[in-house]
Amino acid sequence: KPGENPQIKPELVAEHLEATGGGVITRFPPEPNGYLHIGHAKAINVNFGYAKVHGGVCNLRYDDTNPEGEEQEYVDSILDTVRWLGFEPHQVIYSSDYFQRLYDLAVDLTRRGLAYVCHCTGDEIQQQRGGPERGERFACPHRDRPVAESLAEFQKMKDGKYAEGEATLRMKMDLTDGNPQMWDLVAYRVLFASHHRTGTEWCIYPTYDFTHCLCDSFENITHSLCTREFYQSRQSYYWLCDALEVYKPVQWEYGRLNVTNTVLSKRNLKVLCQKGLVSGQDDPRLYTLPALRRRGVPPQAINAFARELGVTAADSTIEVVRLENHIRDSLNEIAPRIMAALKPIKVVLENLPADHLEEIELLYRPRDEALGKHSVPFTRTLYIDASDFREVASADYYRLAPGKTVGLNGVARPITCTAVRRDAAGAVAELVCRYENEGACAKPSAYIQWVADCPARGSPVRLDEVRIYNPLFKHANPKDKSVVPDGWLSDVDVDSLETVHGAIADVGFWDVIRRHAETDAGKAELAKGSFEAVRVQFMRIGYFTLDKDTVLPLAAALERTRPEAARLVLNRIVTLKEDAKK
Ligand code: ATP
Ligand code: MG
Ligand code: MG
Repeated sequence: KPGENPQIKPELVAEHLEATGGGVITRFPPEPNGYLHIGHAKAINVNFGYAKVHGGVCNLRYDDTNPEGEEQEYVDSILDTVRWLGFEPHQVIYSSDYFQRLYDLAVDLTRRGLAYVCHCTGDEIQQQRGGPERGERFACPHRDRPVAESLAEFQKMKDGKYAEGEATLRMKMDLTDGNPQMWDLVAYRVLFASHHRTGTEWCIYPTYDFTHCLCDSFENITHSLCTREFYQSRQSYYWLCDALEVYKPVQWEYGRLNVTNTVLSKRNLKVLCQKGLVSGQDDPRLYTLPALRRRGVPPQAINAFARELGVTAADSTIEVVRLENHIRDSLNEIAPRIMAALKPIKVVLENLPADHLEEIELLYRPRDEALGKHSVPFTRTLYIDASDFREVASADYYRLAPGKTVGLNGVARPITCTAVRRDAAGAVAELVCRYENEGACAKPSAYIQWVADCPARGSPVRLDEVRIYNPLFKHANPKDKSVVPDGWLSDVDVDSLETVHGAIADVGFWDVIRRHAETDAGKAELAKGSFEAVRVQFMRIGYFTLDKDTVLPLAAALERTRPEAARLVLNRIVTLKEDAKK
């Protein structure tokens, strides 16, 4: 019964111990029918983590018994993602590796009188199971057919003599048990589908219920860790191992992880893609792991998040801000600070000569030499971000406005706005400022970032496109009908992606890219067209990375300054503070 420890035959235990040396073996068993998502990050951490703390190993097993939705692309993506999170599987295997062995055991089970071929329709099976009104349960007419007949019929299923739905192999379990997982589950069904690995070799495929426990058993898995919805399956899992007298692992359940303001299920993701509401399953607004990766999220932030949640027994929906806080914490450690302006406006320092050129040294991380430093030019013409200027100041406003003084990051002397020049349409075109003498005015209350207009030094670095991601869903739980009566799709915020053109950064940004391109790891990444390791903090704005839409050949990345042909596309990974909207 669920909850009880399984009794394992002593001789099977001995065999198991001989095979494993008594070590822990777990497995992470995804179905290759989609990308992994943030929930899987918990499953990965639970399985690899449990093995690791016990000095054991963890396998990656593709649970590929539903050929219709499974594809090689997902197989590749899953292994890539597991490695990206920093885990290396002990073995990479497939349930389909065991198709012959599973089939042989199905024959064995039938021979033991514990399985039978059934020709009932799905509706009929429903009725037998007590139907929707939960009436009396009853056995199907095929349940007591002779073993020899079932063996012959099963052979016919395998030989393609039955069409889909005409025959299944069912396990002869216990219809009197209160657990529906004991009501003669289907072990094999007919499916004329080409499998991504075995092609058309098979036209019958084992079900999850038949496959999972046996594969665990073959691999000498010690702890079969799975999510809570499999709680009732624990009994059928043990039943089958016992019925076949094979080594029986222990199944333990843990809670599923969800995060707010998103959907994770593959079906929902497909709908979002089909309707063009996202650019694909790795759209950075989604919470698939490839999406988070593309967005620039460091893998250690995801692992820290998963570790913090621990192995909870209950399913949980975690506020997405908790994940974001881990992302900020990680980025705070690793991201060099760069000055940038999303919407630049020109500043002319009227009392500096036109050819004024100073180099100002800035640490990539304040008070921390470890990330190194860079040098930016300081010239008569600069850019600041439009959000740091107001035409009308107020008492609690400390940045730039006519007559107001503000500090420039890394510069000893502040500037004061003396005039505003307008274009023909009357819009602010440039700010005329005075570069104050040291000590001439009080220490400014605010410091803002700036970028020099100095083409000779490659400044500013033009950022062709900056993508700002806001939550894809307006509500924490888009599936909650009481909050979103028109269904989760109606909750999509169609303005959740903002695209900014014309942004600029200081030359440090280019230095960071070049520094990356000069390392072996960076070269390999760039050659693949991946720029995700380039993560920076644009001071006072947020954390950013280069999206894979960036066009930057390796040779170009090694140039002294940004080449004309490059196209830099940036993703905002996360804001600097939890409550910052933009
Ligand atoms: P989905 O319904 O999202 O496709 P799934 O359970 O079908 O998820 P699998 O590929 O079968 O996805 O999952 C592989 C492993 O990851 C399983 O052990 C599963 O229990 C676990 N897992 C899947 N989703 C979550 C989640 N949200 N939280 C924790 N573990 C999960
Ligand atoms: Mg599954
Ligand atoms: Mg699923």
